Amino acid sequence: MNLVLLGAPGSGKGTQAEKLSQKLNLFYLQTGELSREWAKTDKRIRNIINGGKLIPEKEMTNYVMKYLEKRVPKGTNILFEGFPRFISQYEEYEKWLASKRQKIDAVVSLDISEKEAVKRLSGRRICEKCGEVYNVITNPPKESGKCDKCKGKLIQRDDDRPEAIKVRFRYYRNNTKKLIDYLDNKEKLIRVDAVRPINVIYLEILEKLGVKNG
Ligand SMILES: [Zn+2]
Repeated sequence: MNLVLLGAPGSGKGTQAEKLSQKLNLFYLQTGELSREWAKTDKRIRNIINGGKLIPEKEMTNYVMKYLEKRVPKGTNILFEGFPRFISQYEEYEKWLASKRQKIDAVVSLDISEKEAVKRLSGRRICEKCGEVYNVITNPPKESGKCDKCKGKLIQRDDDRPEAIKVRFRYYRNNTKKLIDYLDNKEKLIRVDAVRPINVIYLEILEKLGVKNG
């Protein structure tokens, strides 16, 4: 099964993606991670990301397609998070899968309001050393400001600051929203209310995918 997970910033798609890819044995691809990796060696990309902006549509598509070709083992089923964001990217990805005799089996959209997302994102902290993610409201560390795992310092990522969040949301509204509407019309979309406990959302997704839990 090839899955795509969509959702506004702060909808918790990373958490669900991890659980689902483990459960369903999928190759987990996260474009946020890919872009940050890319940013390490490319200053222009780094500036785009630190400003909370998205890498231009076509460039991102090319980068992802190359990555898929080079790094994803043949015949693997993929869970994609953060890509595709545009209708054009969706179509490119579909084409790539078709060339491997595969298809996108389901697209899950995690729905959240902007107000709720901003509240969640501004609480997000990340460990400087190991990258573990916390939230001062929903998932605080045992000791304030320190990572439970490695005692590293917890910091706020630049793109989780309020100004950057606003920009990310504007991009989401202008682009991914169009993709969601497009898929809604094709009846390819599973919509889930993302403002509920993690496990409730997870179980609902499994149920809607027709996967038995246990
Ligand atoms: Zn840590």
